[in-house]
Amino acid sequence: MNKRLKQADIPILETKDLRKYFQVRGKYVKAVDGINIELYKGETLGIIGESGCGKTTLGKTIIGLHKKTSGEILLDGIEACQKEPSFKRRVQMIFQDPYSSLDPSWDVYKILEEPLAAHCIGTAAERKDIIEHFLDKMGLKASMLRRFPHEFSGGQRQRIGIARALIMRPEIVICDEPISALDVSIQAQVINLLKEIQKEMNLSYLFIAHDLSMVKYISDRIVVMYLGNIVEMADKSELVKNMCHPYTKALFEAEPVADPDHIMEHKGISGEIPSPMNPPSGCKFCTRCPYANEGCMQQQPEFTEIQTGHWVACHRWKELSV
Ligand code: SF4
Repeated sequence: MNKRLKQADIPILETKDLRKYFQVRGKYVKAVDGINIELYKGETLGIIGESGCGKTTLGKTIIGLHKKTSGEILLDGIEACQKEPSFKRRVQMIFQDPYSSLDPSWDVYKILEEPLAAHCIGTAAERKDIIEHFLDKMGLKASMLRRFPHEFSGGQRQRIGIARALIMRPEIVICDEPISALDVSIQAQVINLLKEIQKEMNLSYLFIAHDLSMVKYISDRIVVMYLGNIVEMADKSELVKNMCHPYTKALFEAEPVADPDHIMEHKGISGEIPSPMNPPSGCKFCTRCPYANEGCMQQQPEFTEIQTGHWVACHRWKELSV
């Protein structure tokens, strides 16, 4: 049964028509162009798409690292203010690059103590206990507390980044490509760690990634983004067996298969992703879609619920599904 259906009706996090435009040389880059998503307690919502589709900007806009252009961000159905300490305690982010997201001049103790001290949590002795507890949870030793980031491997650094995000005991964690900078051999360890902690702390994840196998493994529902818009959204199992948007199909067809005898039959996606400063009219995917017709170039498709929880933005999804 869909985990989402077991949850309370009100999503823990919701965006309504969220937009983030950047002004470049007098034009607008519409990086996030009207996004509506809902994230439920304990759920993992995977967000996929090529580089430049707006998925990282969406995460950064939700947490307040980018100022939204318009739209709403709601926590438990109430419009949230990202500057408020309560928002910062409830929503945290794990960054893509464990090298640049940790201050190289701070030791691990200072990195982990800083958010606790900023929010006046505990005495110095209590903070030390909390830090050691989280370090242990991440599989790191208390003897490592006085080491600096450069003294750790990439995997250990990302564990420190995860500890920093979790030490505030958040309810929502935005995971921005948390494994893409790691060696393949340790990616699975970090993913399994995230899954364990999610269960233990009943966390909700917004999991942004371009690694489809990882997104399929960790997510309950999947959102597919293209040029700042959502083109398809469904439960993971529904999406995998019944993908309806040509872009989703092309993404999954291009996924490598771990079988030396497998012959890749995918047609791939031709052409480059268009500039978000000058997107095509009509359907934004029309310049690369093998099924585009005249109508696609003139009219933007509506994002339509084709069955419960399965949404698609394509004029021709019905004929292409046959
Ligand atoms: Fe392709 Fe047309 Fe569907 Fe866009 S609306 S994805 S161009 S078939």
